[in-house]
Amino acid sequence: MHELSLSSAILETALRHAEGRRVKSVQMRIGTMRQVVPDSLGFYFDIVTRGTLCEGAELEHERVATLLRCESCAREWRPELPIFRCPGCGCGEVEIAAGNEFDIDSIVVEENEETKCIAPR
Ligand SMILES: [Zn+2]
Repeated sequence: MHELSLSSAILETALRHAEGRRVKSVQMRIGTMRQVVPDSLGFYFDIVTRGTLCEGAELEHERVATLLRCESCAREWRPELPIFRCPGCGCGEVEIAAGNEFDIDSIVVEENEETKCIAPR
């Protein structure tokens, strides 16, 4: 039921930013490191939004490819295999530079019969 709690979190954020306006769509960025099934997320989103200003809103998403960055030499690479070691200097202290996203990129709301795109960040 991971996707259910994520859907509730998206709903909460979208409603907060919509400030009383009807939400038409929500654009997400979801990293490939995230164990999220987008179809399942959409399914739960439809359920949790019932009776709210997000009811009927489209949940759109873009997948973000994983990018690792070495903490010693700042080299960045896309891992082919889950090997968390820098191919440049061999350092094992690496951070996930991209791929762990689970962010709302923008929200489209209805305002005075027009649609308007707002960015929560
Ligand atoms: Zn390195």
